[in-house]
Amino acid sequence: RAKRGGRNAACFFSRDMDEAIRDRRRLARDLKKGIDAGELRLSYQPLAAMADGRIVGFEALVRWQHPVRGLLQPDDFILVAEENGLIIALGNWVLKQACFEAAKWERPFRVAVNLSALHLQDNSLVSRVHEILVNSGLSPARLEIEITESALFLDQARALSNLRRLKALGVRIAMDDFGTGYSSLSTLNAFPFDRIKIDRSFVDEISRSPQAEKIVRAIVSLGHSLGVPITAEGVETETQLEFLRREGCDQVQGFLIGRPEHIDMHAGLVAPSSPIVPGLEDDQIAQA
Ligand code: C2E
Ligand code: MG
Ligand code: MG
Ligand code: MG
Repeated sequence: RAKRGGRNAACFFSRDMDEAIRDRRRLARDLKKGIDAGELRLSYQPLAAMADGRIVGFEALVRWQHPVRGLLQPDDFILVAEENGLIIALGNWVLKQACFEAAKWERPFRVAVNLSALHLQDNSLVSRVHEILVNSGLSPARLEIEITESALFLDQARALSNLRRLKALGVRIAMDDFGTGYSSLSTLNAFPFDRIKIDRSFVDEISRSPQAEKIVRAIVSLGHSLGVPITAEGVETETQLEFLRREGCDQVQGFLIGRPEHIDMHAGLVAPSSPIVPGLEDDQIAQA
């Protein structure tokens, strides 16, 4: 009896697996078509300077308006894109779209783009970025590329070479989700990053975990001794903001400052619609 139950369970299990694999294949096929069909969109989330609350830039975050499944978030399709090599086409689309849109903003805010570890292995990445900058007219200093610690796990020499060549173009490089990878410190040691972004899992625990607070403090102090500005991600409460201010964190990003929002170019908007920092007037919002 037990044996039969086991066999049935195994059978259900493998049927679920098959279904999951088929579903991922369908999603990959849809994504391949969707990129060309213009189904991807960018949302922009503001980054504010701690010193005066001014907006200093926006991070581009990709969304996918799937014809049947509706609006999908990166967590729903980035992994699938990486499994199928589609991440290169997706990343190139994001780079191009973000640069062309930012070039049209009324104010020269910086724009940050997330780049997958696989994309950083691509030999044509740097010439592609160069071409996009020339064609969009965006000043290289306004583009910031965010990579995670995993970006240096594959062929590290090739990743570093691409990062150096990007930096030589005048593009800035940020270390994203800092503290969550396996070798955070050696990653920092391998390349001179222009910014370190503290992962929101640490920020989330401020005022709940003295341990997490100490880690945030240590990251800020590490960044400052390296001469690298620190951005805190996922700031949701005034308490977190106050703590980060006391600790000398340089920039903040999170729902408290502003949510990721779509810019509707067709509505005639040339700047992100609502970069609202609590207590700030519009004319106080500064250039990057
Ligand atoms: P990330 O680069 O760390 O981006 C920040 C994520 O945190 C975004 O999620 C953002 O919506 C979310 N977030 C921002 N502030 C808060 C907050 O106060 N509270 C909470 N709970 N969440 C907050 P999103 O847009 O779902 O993106 C998730 C991840 O997907 C990104 O993490 C990034 O790693 C990846 N991703 C997004 N766009 C792209 C892209 O164009 N290319 C690649 N390769 N990856 C992307
Ligand atoms: Mg999300
Ligand atoms: Mg990011
Ligand atoms: Mg992050």
